[in-house]
Amino acid sequence: MDIATIRQAFPIFTKYPELVYLDSAATALKPESVISAEMAYYQSYSANIARGIYPMAEEATLAFEGARATVARFLDASRPEEIIFTAGTTASLNLASQLLASQIKAGDNIVVTALEHHSNFLAWKELAKSRNAEFRVLPIDETGLLRLETLPDLVDARTRIVALSAVSNVLGLINPVRDIIATVRTLALEARVVVDAAQLVGHLPLSVQEWDADLVAFSGHKLFGPTGIGVLYGKFALLETLRPVVFGGGMVLDACATDTLYKDVPARFEAGTPNIAGAIGLGAALDFISSVSLDAIHDHEQKLIAYTIEALKKNFSDALTILGTQEVSRKSGIISFTLEGVHPHDVAQLLGDQNICIRAGLQCAAPLHESLRLPASARISLSLYNTEADIDQLVAGLKHIRTVL
Ligand code: PMP
Repeated sequence: MDIATIRQAFPIFTKYPELVYLDSAATALKPESVISAEMAYYQSYSANIARGIYPMAEEATLAFEGARATVARFLDASRPEEIIFTAGTTASLNLASQLLASQIKAGDNIVVTALEHHSNFLAWKELAKSRNAEFRVLPIDETGLLRLETLPDLVDARTRIVALSAVSNVLGLINPVRDIIATVRTLALEARVVVDAAQLVGHLPLSVQEWDADLVAFSGHKLFGPTGIGVLYGKFALLETLRPVVFGGGMVLDACATDTLYKDVPARFEAGTPNIAGAIGLGAALDFISSVSLDAIHDHEQKLIAYTIEALKKNFSDALTILGTQEVSRKSGIISFTLEGVHPHDVAQLLGDQNICIRAGLQCAAPLHESLRLPASARISLSLYNTEADIDQLVAGLKHIRTVL
């Protein structure tokens, strides 16, 4: 993979050649092909979809449904109808919780992990509360690994939902999703497994069929796509049993005062005009990833993660603490850390002053920080456009902070 050529595909580096962008887990930068796919829709065929019967409307519908097919292939879904377009991971997980709500009765339980981003934690916590169900949290150990030996204590015949992330947005830890789902299936026949794949899609290959997940959520903007578009994948057989929870235009075949005839899956879950340009842009983003190859992206991120961990250890030894395991093969491109004597917010702000972009705070993962007994942390997240030179600048930036404070 030629990084110089890759970087040329991202217009932001032409505008800001000095940019050291280490915040791709928050949102990834956008390649030209995504920007122009979205713009082409607005400039050349910006009609609504699934309504008009004139050529431009048909072109828009074809492009939108083409993007759905691209997503389905990318996830190894069994058919495009398993792909519901949403506004992003948060919207997908909230939709998932609403779709499954009627299956939860008082005394049932919902299991999540202590690693979760708030969007895969709060939606389920609220659902449990509203249905008088128990909310159970699978703990992590001091290195951030899920304590999977506790699964049999937490998942039982009354478990209706197990929600977990594929990759932690704080630790970058890759969870063994397929094995966890297989175990859940032996413990709770009726449990639906919901996977938050926001930090996995675009970094690692996945097959939703191999996982055997019931529902999977992710956002377009974290994988070089536009903001405001995301996906909720659902097993077709499950989606067919679910009633819509958002109502409006585009999702019914017929409606009168007494009867409503809903469209088939997935249209019945996509009421209203969707983010058409966003879906087309997401399709272009997945094409971009496929053109580079997921294996090449993962390989690059693994090498860079190893380089970063080495560089941080060599230059800061005990003054800098990397959170979680440092086993490179267990990590996707995310490293969170604390720097002795400097609040993570100050670290991020002082690096920002040097044109180095990182994230700091609770990172929308308060339960994880509580488990690790930390008030906050700083996070570096890597993508295919990052280089060793970026990391060298990060190290220089952190050294500068230690000299000024
Ligand atoms: N889950 C995880 C693991 C995430 O990293 C994020 C984004 N930080 C989200 C959910 C929420 O994604 P969005 O803000 O795009 O809805």
